[in-house]
Amino acid sequence: SQRFVTPLAEVSNIVSQYENAKASCERVFGLQDVPRRVTDEPDALELDDVEGAVEYDGVSFRYADGDPADAGSTPVEPARADGGSPEDGPSEGGPREDGRTDGGDDWILRDVDFAVEPGETVALVGPTGAGKSTLLKLLLRLYDVNRGAVRVDGHDVREVTARSLRRSVGYVSQDTFLFDGTVAENVLYGTFGSAGARGGNGEVAEVQGDVEAAAKAAEAHEFIRNLPEAYDTEVGERGVKLSGGQRQRLSIARTVLQDPDVLVLDEATSAVDTETELLIQRSLDRLAADRTTFVIAHRLSTVKDADEILVLEGGEVVERGVHEELLSADGLYAKLWGVQAGEIESLPESFVQRARE
Ligand code: ADP
Repeated sequence: SQRFVTPLAEVSNIVSQYENAKASCERVFGLQDVPRRVTDEPDALELDDVEGAVEYDGVSFRYADGDPADAGSTPVEPARADGGSPEDGPSEGGPREDGRTDGGDDWILRDVDFAVEPGETVALVGPTGAGKSTLLKLLLRLYDVNRGAVRVDGHDVREVTARSLRRSVGYVSQDTFLFDGTVAENVLYGTFGSAGARGGNGEVAEVQGDVEAAAKAAEAHEFIRNLPEAYDTEVGERGVKLSGGQRQRLSIARTVLQDPDVLVLDEATSAVDTETELLIQRSLDRLAADRTTFVIAHRLSTVKDADEILVLEGGEVVERGVHEELLSADGLYAKLWGVQAGEIESLPESFVQRARE
């Protein structure tokens, strides 16, 4: 078959697939992360030509109370001009001052404050449950802050259109959902919706080229070529099963096409062979180059190269700095990697990672 991508006559089909993909993408952060019905403010701004400065300004957050089975599913409320009322904020440690007992200590993030220059790479490290992925959900505006503000290029994310925010902020993970469709369709239409405007008459060849270039940049081209029908191979629930490493590379290919200004990476935790790991690392490095990148880091080599490392614990940034500084501090960061200051260089990375588990 020379079909490669879906004929334009099937565009409506693609649109529904795209809707599915969108819902799926919003599932990537966790099963309960049904898309917020984020409504744009009437005067919402279209984010465009983003430089990539990102700022967390006194951000506190907790998931909404309610039915535990439905935790966190309360839709985002419209932005409040004052950024939230003071009594919504976390109390200064310990029980709430207002005496409420309904989970007074359920703040997931407390007074998170940092700023990132365009193009920088920030590594988030910390124990499971520290709040790393929650922190990034706020940037993607899957949830709204309770207090403070998250800003991109100085614009509060609550004051920009959801569509432009999602076009500007890309997300890559190994849990990426593939919808029923071909590899090419999944690369084209998978990411949040950035590719939604594609597909005009006569663009098929160009789009084919784009998909293939993106797959190459994602180090995915070789394995795709070896699939039964290459780019036309059906994936998703009814299609061929792809490994975690392959899914991740498709996710990277999507994001290459999206070409976001800000990138959010959730590094894989599950095992891939060394060669695949090198391929993935290489494509991620390429993707992260020259754009602001947040990475939930599971690999020491990633954090070593980061411009800034934020160490989270219990929803607070407890340490920050670059690798050497944090090692010298001999605090949580050094402990997380299972080594003491001064010793780390002598340990092979595999050992360090094992020690951490
Ligand atoms: P990390 O990424 O550092 O492992 P998370 O941001 O995933 O941490 O989780 C921080 C805390 O928020 C954890 O206690 C977790 O149980 C809680 N949490 C995460 N997602 C939800 C949700 N949708 N509803 C309620 N609590 C959640």
